[in-house]
Amino acid sequence: MIKRRFIAGATCPECGAVDKIVRVEDGNALWMECVACDMRKDLDAEPAPAPAPPEGGGGNPVVWKSGK
Ligand SMILES: [Zn+2]
Repeated sequence: MIKRRFIAGATCPECGAVDKIVRVEDGNALWMECVACDMRKDLDAEPAPAPAPPEGGGGNPVVWKSGK
């Protein structure tokens, strides 16, 4: 079953059209298409960016130790 979903605000890297990018999901395959210029880009190989929300509230600031 193919699932299609427009990505709001996405810009096509090929033709520059906005709101013409469709995210297509077919089983294990995942790609995006531009309905304006038929650009197709595989998303399979690219891991989705996963911004990890800080847990515990506030989070811990990263402290870099200088080795000296
Ligand atoms: Zn396009």
